[in-house]
Amino acid sequence: MNIHPKPLIACRECDLLQREIPLSPGETSCCSRCGATLYRCSPDSLDRTLALVLAASLLFIIANVYPILSIEIQGDRNATNLYGAVSALWDQDMRSVSFLVFVTTILVPAIELSMMIFILLPLRQQRVPAGIPLLLRILQSIKPWGMVEVFMLGILVSLVKLTDSSSVIPGVALWSFGGLTLMLAAVATSFNPRDVWAHIKTDNAQGAVK
Ligand SMILES: [Zn+2]
Repeated sequence: MNIHPKPLIACRECDLLQREIPLSPGETSCCSRCGATLYRCSPDSLDRTLALVLAASLLFIIANVYPILSIEIQGDRNATNLYGAVSALWDQDMRSVSFLVFVTTILVPAIELSMMIFILLPLRQQRVPAGIPLLLRILQSIKPWGMVEVFMLGILVSLVKLTDSSSVIPGVALWSFGGLTLMLAAVATSFNPRDVWAHIKTDNAQGAVK
């Protein structure tokens, strides 16, 4: 059987099958028909992503523990954190909104960050964790449900509206949410699942030789 040394890759935009070519660090391979990016060569992408994920996890914990903002009306000050806001919505019979806020700003980002750590930390120690293909697929499918940036935008709009009627003091969690939004965008840009698959291929090849 004649096996071509260069593997095939399909363009995500136009489905054109092309042969992969070796790249130097920093170079990008583009589709010959539509010009879409096929893959990049970024040797430190997993280490960089792990550092960003750890920073994002720290900000996520701070954002959930400390108050988002305090409102002062006639000397009375009320402060709430994210979970407090979710349970207040639930108590006010806005259960579907409460559920959506919980899923999109607490549950999905927590699962996403935990899974990324579970995948990236062992890879850094040259180990391939079990069930990694399934984890990558789950990560891909839950990603659109993480909406920290939409929540951040909502808070900013509310903040502007509330300043007309009361005194609003931004809390530590608000700044953490801002940092978290930037970190999650950086993680999405830096993470290259292709590098994870390369580790799996190498691990399988070594297993076959043994
Ligand atoms: Zn293409």
